[in-house]
Amino acid sequence: MALSALSAGSALWGNFEEIDTMPTGGSVDTIVTSLLNKLTIVQNQVGYVQFNILSFDELLKTASRCKKPLTKEEIAFIESIFYGDPRKYGFFGERTVPQLTVVTPKKDVVYVDKTGHFLMKGAATEKYAQIKRLIGKDLVLTSGVRLPVKQLLLFVKKIANAGGDLRVASNSIAPPGFTFHSVGDFDIGKVGLGQYNFTEKFQETDVFKKLHDGGYIAIRYTANNIFGVRYEPWHIKVTGGFETA
Ligand SMILES: [Zn+2]
Repeated sequence: MALSALSAGSALWGNFEEIDTMPTGGSVDTIVTSLLNKLTIVQNQVGYVQFNILSFDELLKTASRCKKPLTKEEIAFIESIFYGDPRKYGFFGERTVPQLTVVTPKKDVVYVDKTGHFLMKGAATEKYAQIKRLIGKDLVLTSGVRLPVKQLLLFVKKIANAGGDLRVASNSIAPPGFTFHSVGDFDIGKVGLGQYNFTEKFQETDVFKKLHDGGYIAIRYTANNIFGVRYEPWHIKVTGGFETA
């Protein structure tokens, strides 16, 4: 599929990535609300697929083109989240991306047909192919490469859903700069399970059992891990990090 065609639709895939709930009200900061709004506008503009690998500079340019330029305060907020120490709100994961402005060339990623997601060329695509051979048509890639801008959107959504509470938000999603999705990890699920792929229900599926029993997967965040991240049996570790299971 040509990349230009990929940027067309956006509603096709988003539902299967995260449990999408609307903010429940309460004390969500105006910066969070306006950032969520602007990031969503840019995602609609560039398309769901391309947004996964959009760089920060492209975000700024596209937002301006959409007449929704990011304010100084919004950029300062993003920088404080990206470069700040997330341990102060209970997230103890490792930094994976040193610079907010990181660019991942298109030649370094592979689009996985019909999924809405990219994988990093090399170890990630090899691991995915291995898993795909074992599971076959029941396997779905639910999330692949996410650069800091995409991770920022997911994180800001969680903050909004958590009524502005960074501690609650970072328990279920890593802040931008701290996700292994930026460097190769990916999420998998069982076809037809939809949003339940992001719950412990996934662990009860034959897909998970086959992979686990076969020793094909190493879980990045095991139950009761010390990093303050929820247990994620759907997350496939590809590179780096110091936790194996
Ligand atoms: Zn993941």
